[in-house]
Amino acid sequence: MRLIIKRKDLEKILKLAEDSDIEVCGFLLGKNSDDADVETVRETANRLNSPVEFEIDPLEIAGVLDEAEKLGLEIVGVFHSHLCCPPVPSGKDLRGMKLWRNVWLIVTPSGDFRAWVVKEEKLEEVKIEVTP
Ligand SMILES: [Zn+2]
Repeated sequence: MRLIIKRKDLEKILKLAEDSDIEVCGFLLGKNSDDADVETVRETANRLNSPVEFEIDPLEIAGVLDEAEKLGLEIVGVFHSHLCCPPVPSGKDLRGMKLWRNVWLIVTPSGDFRAWVVKEEKLEEVKIEVTP
């Protein structure tokens, strides 16, 4: 499986991360086949306002789910940023990944990005394909 994302969407997420003093977060909307094919991205608020963790309000998640449905899309992934460590899932991220079993894209303010998924309780890196 791969994460397929347009350059402008990835750049948007990287810019959000670069401009923020707290972890930024949101959803990748698109179509799930063998790959997670991202059509568009939606930023959400980090209700913890924290530089070391994030949490998204369930009401905001419901709003994004509604919007995705109207667009004929689904949530194919979650993105967030790490301010002071590499783009590798934290212990808390891993717990979240067991609830949201889709691709997790993690970025840093310096422009690093990697994607991950939990499969059969094991963390796996997902190859990212950036399209024009
Ligand atoms: Zn994290």
